[in-house]
Formats: sequence, structure tokens, C-alpha cells
Amino acid sequence: MGAQPPTAYRALDFVVSHGFAHRIERLNAYIACTHSGGAHRPTFPICRKCESVAEAGARPVERSPDQEAEAPWFAMEQGVVELEELCPASAEAEKRA
Ligand SMILES: [Zn+2]
Ligand SMILES: [Zn+2]
Repeated sequence: MGAQPPTAYRALDFVVSHGFAHRIERLNAYIACTHSGGAHRPTFPICRKCESVAEAGARPVERSPDQEAEAPWFAMEQGVVELEELCPASAEAEKRA
């Protein structure tokens, strides 16, 4: 395993910072964004059995000033929420076990 060329890192930075992909810290992996276009705040249920990841619960970032005043969100910067769950397939397998 050699070191990756720096350009590979820059390319990943680019796709992540532009919302084309999200970094899943827990799995040390990247997942392609399923919400094309527009910044959003996704949550990622991660299956604790098979480590499959889904993008869920994305909320659009644009809000009216009223909404923002009512319930301000944290800054987007580190805006990835990772949840430990069971995917349907693993939940089914667990039921049968
Ligand atoms: Zn996304
Ligand atoms: Zn699973």
C-alpha cells in the first residue's frame, strides 16, 4: 500500500465540500450524496451489524429568518450526524436468530 498522491485527497475534499459526498467518520469512509444539488444537513443511520449506510433525514439549509430566529441550527461546518441502528435486513436476521 503506497501513499496516495495528494491530488486524490484534494479531489475528495472537493466532492465533500461541495456536497457530492459525505464523510462517515465512524466507518472512515465516504458515501455518495443521494440528494443532488443544494446544501443540506443529512443524518446517516449506520447498521451496527453489516455497516451499511443510508442517507436519511436531510433537511434543506435554506430557512426563513423567522425560522432561524426561532430555532437556530448549529453551524453547518461539521454537519454530519451518524446514528447507530439496524438496517431492515439485519433487523430481520436478528429476529430470526
Ligand atoms: Zn447528502
Ligand atoms: Zn445491516
